Amino acid sequence: MTVDCIKTVCPYCGVGCGLEAMPTAQRDGTPGWKIRGDRAHPSSQGMVCIKGATVLDAIHQNRLLQPLYRETLEQTFHPISWDEALDRVATSIQTTQQVFGKDAIAVYGSGQFQTEDYYVAQKLVKGCLGTNNFDANSRLCMSSAVSGYIQSLGADGPPCCYDDLELTDCAFLIGTNTAECHPIIFNRLRKHHKANPQVKMIVADPRRTPTAGAADLHLALRPGTDIDLLNGIGHLLLQWGVVDDAFIQQHTHGFEDYRAVLQHYPPDVVAQRCGIEVAELETAALYWAESQATLSLWSMGVNQSSEGTAKVRSLINLHLMTGMIGKPGAGPFSLTGQPNAMGGREAGGLSHLLPGYRSVKQAEHRHAVEAFWNLPAGQISPHVGRTIWDTIEGLETGDIQFLWIAATNPVVSLPDLERVKVALGRSPFTVYQDAYYPTETSSYAHLLLPAAQWSEKTGCMTNSERVVTLSQGFQEPLGEARPDWEIFAEVGRRLGFAEHFSFSTSADVFAEFVQLTRDRPCAMTHITHERLKADGPQQWPAPATRSDPEAPPSTRLYTDHRFATADGRANFGALHARGLAEPPDPDFPFIFTNGRLYGHWHTQTRTGHIEKIRQMHPEPFLEIHPRDAAALGIEGGDVVEVRSRRGSAQFPAKVTRGIAPGTVFAPMHWGFLWADHAEVNSLTHPIDCPDSRQPELKACAVQVINVSAARAAEIAPALHTPVTSQ
Ligand code: SF4
Repeated sequence: MTVDCIKTVCPYCGVGCGLEAMPTAQRDGTPGWKIRGDRAHPSSQGMVCIKGATVLDAIHQNRLLQPLYRETLEQTFHPISWDEALDRVATSIQTTQQVFGKDAIAVYGSGQFQTEDYYVAQKLVKGCLGTNNFDANSRLCMSSAVSGYIQSLGADGPPCCYDDLELTDCAFLIGTNTAECHPIIFNRLRKHHKANPQVKMIVADPRRTPTAGAADLHLALRPGTDIDLLNGIGHLLLQWGVVDDAFIQQHTHGFEDYRAVLQHYPPDVVAQRCGIEVAELETAALYWAESQATLSLWSMGVNQSSEGTAKVRSLINLHLMTGMIGKPGAGPFSLTGQPNAMGGREAGGLSHLLPGYRSVKQAEHRHAVEAFWNLPAGQISPHVGRTIWDTIEGLETGDIQFLWIAATNPVVSLPDLERVKVALGRSPFTVYQDAYYPTETSSYAHLLLPAAQWSEKTGCMTNSERVVTLSQGFQEPLGEARPDWEIFAEVGRRLGFAEHFSFSTSADVFAEFVQLTRDRPCAMTHITHERLKADGPQQWPAPATRSDPEAPPSTRLYTDHRFATADGRANFGALHARGLAEPPDPDFPFIFTNGRLYGHWHTQTRTGHIEKIRQMHPEPFLEIHPRDAAALGIEGGDVVEVRSRRGSAQFPAKVTRGIAPGTVFAPMHWGFLWADHAEVNSLTHPIDCPDSRQPELKACAVQVINVSAARAAEIAPALHTPVTSQ
């Protein structure tokens, strides 16, 4: 039988590039697969970066092949059957809830989930088990964008589309190293920028990243001064009369309060706070002023902040003031980190959300979901559940007695890592469901459940421009691995909810989920697995869910300038800069920041096993400005120790003018399995944005210590060879 090429989507980042898996025959005749970009995919048009191109290289390495169990963390794991494993999970949930109450359990999921995984988990945890303690690693990634969109525009959902990258005449990138973290989006923008010299690109980032290197204007602002910068640009636009009065009058609220705030951000004050020249600020404002279509792109540099929501809203303010939204080439556009963080938001995968962009705080939303799930009224808790950091605190106090982590590696990615490790060490029972073993987090689990990986299961993923692609499975799960949704459903059945989890396939799950999006902002009731297979990727809102079923899908939101608020008007936010939660001081005089590198994905569970990528990024490092290095007697390659109030880490120094003086940078990818003592989150703190509850992972105050040559030899970070499991 001939197997055709299988269309799927890259499982790494939120760009959501289309891939094709092509069957090949190995030398010994056994079937194999190779990957290429899908030219027909509307988002990526056949392009892929190194991660997409090498995705198959690590998929079968270091896999967890069967359930493993141990009574205590001191013991070694031994294999158990799926039956026994699932019974243990179900019994533990039941006992915990009976003894300690419904909210004594917590589940932590992932933007790596497919939408079906997310949805079944919500139905189980928030519906059947009656607790909203389901959070996902999107909390660390996009929750500030979510709350900013909701507060300013009335609903979550990026208003723009990737075609805007080729239609803009001013791209304003803030807190995003797009060239390395969202390479295919950057390729599209860069091509447009190069071909059209009148198109401007502004990059605001404390580092001279490859993204900043391509810009017409790089604003190397001090970390924590984003709102100063944004309000400073607003001040100048207002002063120059670059204001869309008709738009403001007809479509917004709150402009007068915003105008009053802007008075406090004159150029000299802003330039001094941001550490840039007045002329640079004026040039940025001039590019905005001269543009007919300004597109703002942002990512973790904005979101991962104790004032993340305020930053997002301050950026949206500029678009509302200039009417730059809902039209080609213009608008505020968040670039999602994880491949399906968007699908997670649609399915309600954060502790304050319910499926279909609903909130657990709204009675009518809870009642609609309860009725749809055939659960008694009042079953869904009206209280916002625990964020992941609340869960860590719950482990410390003993309020959380059962923890279930899936498809994420928090023992590398959470802030204040030493505290996290101690808290996890106290957990009475931790289930860890993942495709890989060992990971840093598996060291803290009692029960390991093997999950099927990309290519071994079929489900949907939504990318940053609201395009849903079917990620089709094309090979059998390795060992005894099962899709995440099936594991959640099986536990649900064992807890007495057989009729709620009677799905046979992931297509059944998706068909049920989309019914909960009817008449919601993320409407996608006419998207099915079948349609995705037949017609290719679909963008929401899907046409047949809107008033005119024959209308083509809208590529951007708010083209009629009617926003998702009760009266259709968007809201200006009158917001002042508060700055960093932990600013530098004489004891901890540097600001430490961190980020991704081009080749690696997050905690290296996959990319760390790909030789080409390992060679590209052989070791962690600390970027430090020559002026600071000279003051500390540091030369390139010296081992330096970075200390914060919470912990320390050591890195070889990289002396570069690419980082602003007073700031140091290290990549985030090296957990304790990959290097000794190079974990960036040993340094970071968990103080979060009060609205989005997203921690300020991007900045903390540190000391930088020049370690002597003798000591350096003793403590130099030992890079590990890839770990292997069974
Ligand atoms: S840009 Fe993102 S989605 Fe596209 S191939 Fe690279 S990692 Fe995958």
